[in-house]
Amino acid sequence: MLDISALSQLLNQPQKIVITTHHKPDGDAMGSSLGLYNYLIQQGHHAKVIAPTDYPEFLAWMPGNEEVMVYTEQQEAAALLIAEAELIFCLDFNALNRINEMGELVRQSSACKVMIDHHLDPEDFDDYRYWNINACATAQLVYSFITEELKRKDLVNADVATCLYTGIMTDSGSFRLPNTTSAVHRMVADLIDAGAVNWRIQELVYNSSSENRLRFLGHCLSSKLEVLPEFNTAIIAVTRQELKQYDAITGDTEGIVNYALSITGIRLAAFIVERSDKVKLSLRSKGDFPANDICKKYFSGGGHRNAAGGQSASPLNEVVQQFKNLLPEYKTLLKQ
Ligand code: 5GP
Ligand code: MN
Repeated sequence: MLDISALSQLLNQPQKIVITTHHKPDGDAMGSSLGLYNYLIQQGHHAKVIAPTDYPEFLAWMPGNEEVMVYTEQQEAAALLIAEAELIFCLDFNALNRINEMGELVRQSSACKVMIDHHLDPEDFDDYRYWNINACATAQLVYSFITEELKRKDLVNADVATCLYTGIMTDSGSFRLPNTTSAVHRMVADLIDAGAVNWRIQELVYNSSSENRLRFLGHCLSSKLEVLPEFNTAIIAVTRQELKQYDAITGDTEGIVNYALSITGIRLAAFIVERSDKVKLSLRSKGDFPANDICKKYFSGGGHRNAAGGQSASPLNEVVQQFKNLLPEYKTLLKQ
């Protein structure tokens, strides 16, 4: 393990740096990665953000986005960058299986690996760890890493601030989740002072739906929502055929689970979707109900207590039934 002074020293010289984040990156994954990228390039580093897979259009506007490499689209070039990197930053994930095939490349690389993350149970593959599960977003940790560990608040420019604001905004559920502390609000105020235009970022992320996306949401809510009052649980399950019918693209299913959770009294919401190779589950919960427990125990996944995900190789209807069957085990917690 490296200490902060050794890492600071390394960063004093231009380095070949790869920044990567979890597959199907969300707002925090891209916001924290590009926030760090915009910081590092000011110091003359050769930095590259490599996303394991593509990400939604509503995130593809942040400063530096045009320089992002998507692994599935440029495998050879990405592998070369990873092999030649002197430093690899792993942001918003803490287990190498979260970056698909890139995981083995990172594991084998001789680069110094820095993990900045807020998920439970980190895997031991890193040389320096900046990790706090109480952080509402990895972008929050990137900000304190830059300002408190590296002591370079002067380098938080408008580009850095815009990306980090986006990460904090999306992962804190627009500043509504319990971990949006007063300290987070103070940090966000600093980011606005540094040049993040808050209303514009909100507009770009949340008011940029296609008509199809909105109609798909309507279909999910009017025809697919299933409420199980006995378990304070709501489920939305959609087939591949339905995704096709609405021309759903990456990101179109994002956030739909939150509508199910917004029903009064509901403590657990599940969005279950049939992807081409597997069935993916997104769980959200209220209060102290451990959604990550279910994902870990039954669906080879994990995440946070109130936002977790997993997958299954079984057919969609079987996964939905499996999910319903496990609810009695959690009945006491669900009825609190
Ligand atoms: P989402 O439902 O948006 O896909 O994911 C919600 C949260 O659960 C995110 O913080 C994400 O990192 C985590 N998560 C989603 N899928 C998985 C998974 O397959 N494995 C693990 N460990 N975490 C996941
Ligand atoms: Mn995150």
